[in-house]
Amino acid sequence: MANVRVALRVRPLSKREAKDGGRIIVEVDGRVATIRNLKVDDRPDGFGDSREKVVTFGFDYCYWSVNPEDPRYASQDVVFQDLGTEVLSGAAKGYNICLFAYGQTGSGKTYTMLGTPASMGLTPRICEGLFSREEDHPSLPSSCRIKVSFLEIYNERVRDLLKQSDQKKPYTLRVREHPEMGPYVQGLSQHVVTNYKQVIQLLEEGIANRITAATHVHEASSRSHAIFTIHYTQAILENNLPSEIASKINLVDLAGSERADPSYCKDRITEGANINKSLVTLGIVISTLAQNSQVFSSCQSLNSAASDGGDSGIPSSSSRTSSGGRPSRKQSYIPYRDSVLTWLLKDSLGGNSKTIMVASYSETMSTLRYASNAK
Ligand code: ADP
Ligand code: MG
Repeated sequence: MANVRVALRVRPLSKREAKDGGRIIVEVDGRVATIRNLKVDDRPDGFGDSREKVVTFGFDYCYWSVNPEDPRYASQDVVFQDLGTEVLSGAAKGYNICLFAYGQTGSGKTYTMLGTPASMGLTPRICEGLFSREEDHPSLPSSCRIKVSFLEIYNERVRDLLKQSDQKKPYTLRVREHPEMGPYVQGLSQHVVTNYKQVIQLLEEGIANRITAATHVHEASSRSHAIFTIHYTQAILENNLPSEIASKINLVDLAGSERADPSYCKDRITEGANINKSLVTLGIVISTLAQNSQVFSSCQSLNSAASDGGDSGIPSSSSRTSSGGRPSRKQSYIPYRDSVLTWLLKDSLGGNSKTIMVASYSETMSTLRYASNAK
């Protein structure tokens, strides 16, 4: 498995979008996605560039999850069979892994990472895969140990989703860095689990906590990042001596990508905390890490293509490269400590670790219309 993998997933139109006459403007063929920008006839004002702009870009995986009748349809299981099994095999080999969903609010991040009661997403399926499947409630082989933690980052502060916190001031935990163990959240609870049922109970408890503390559910999930971390340790024999393989799996449901887009936020400046520092820094960190990766450069073209239509797309590293001239071939300085999210994930992003990003795509003709009307 390459160190950085990028998948695209396209969700179905919502009832509302379908009612408003929305249609999906991205097409997927194999591992290539194509966006056809507004043609002159499609523009509400009738003006504009009469040439149709077509942009294509490649991914490691493209998931067309629009219509179950479509032969290309990618179910939750299809996504798990590719990405979930990569996570499991990487963890078994001792890699730290970071799997995250990136996209605008409503694009399908939570659906991909957690799923719904009727349709389990990656996180519960990965948990299931960690335990042996022999019984009703699969349990852990005796040679393995699993601990989980679940936290939320909001406004560069951390909250434990698996511990009662002060309702008035829940986001009080801080990130520290241990000289050998690396970054950690001081005071974050860790929970030993020995079977699937236990881990799912904790996951559900954390999800419930995330929702109840929010004044407005959608608002909170659009602004905050949730990280479910699985510490996975296997006892092994090395040259007849007992040893251990330790790995960390971080499953991240990111804030909505509109939070990284200055043009989206400029009208809402009074709300405060609009630009999400962690999300912007994550974009810089990942694109710095993947500077020489073919895959990621195609992702960046998604960013520039999509920004014409009002979508913030993938966070770009343009602020770095434009100020410093041509991107350097040498490994540039990676600003992990510039945000809480990237600092915490430092030992799971880059270096000897694996990163998988699922870009959720939801732009439709109707949202593009909305965007051009708003100008
Ligand atoms: P986000 O977390 O990015 O804000 P959600 O995951 O909550 O978005 O998705 C928005 C809505 O679209 C939800 O009702 C969700 O169930 C639905 N949805 C998202 N992706 C899919 C999919 N692949 N198939 C079916 N429904 C989906
Ligand atoms: Mg969500």
